[in-house]
Amino acid sequence: MAELVIMRGDITEQEVDAVVNAANSSLSGGGGVDGAIHRRGGPEILAECRRLRVSRYSAGLPAGAAVATTAGFLPARWVIHTVGPVWSVTEDRSALLASCYRESLRVADELGARSVAFPAISTGAFGWPVRDGARIAVEAVRASATAVSEVRFVLFDDPAYAAFAGRLSGD
Ligand code: ADP
Repeated sequence: MAELVIMRGDITEQEVDAVVNAANSSLSGGGGVDGAIHRRGGPEILAECRRLRVSRYSAGLPAGAAVATTAGFLPARWVIHTVGPVWSVTEDRSALLASCYRESLRVADELGARSVAFPAISTGAFGWPVRDGARIAVEAVRASATAVSEVRFVLFDDPAYAAFAGRLSGD
């Protein structure tokens, strides 16, 4: 089973085999993690995303799915793009959020990645309450039969770090 590690930091600085991007389905960049990854990773990532849109995902990458590209100038080998669900008060989309973590690890296994860094998917622009997002993230990773040996949650602010720390120590 993968070792789970949490840290405060910036996902674009992680020296791991794969960093996970909280992408949107158009794979065309955006704010938050997505913007930071494309800014620091350079144009090669976006070029590969555009090719994926033309070849495999003409309707966009669906929520809960994951796909890999080069990591460009980032100190990682691959970026795994996954699309989190937008938070909804009327509909339970937890399964889609869990699927983001599971599918990203499945793609990481296909690549042969041993270390993977995740942001707190959906907890920024997509509005997911961070404590619940942390619960789903940790449960999904723990339930995955992955060959990845280190899963690193890279949290950008104090509330996110506290949510993941509480979840890891509380059980
Ligand atoms: P989403 O659209 O899936 O909500 P966001 O990128 O808006 O994705 O936010 C996801 C989480 O990532 C938020 O908790 C946000 O604070 C955090 N975040 C933003 N930039 C970075 C970064 N460079 N590294 C790690 N986490 C980040």
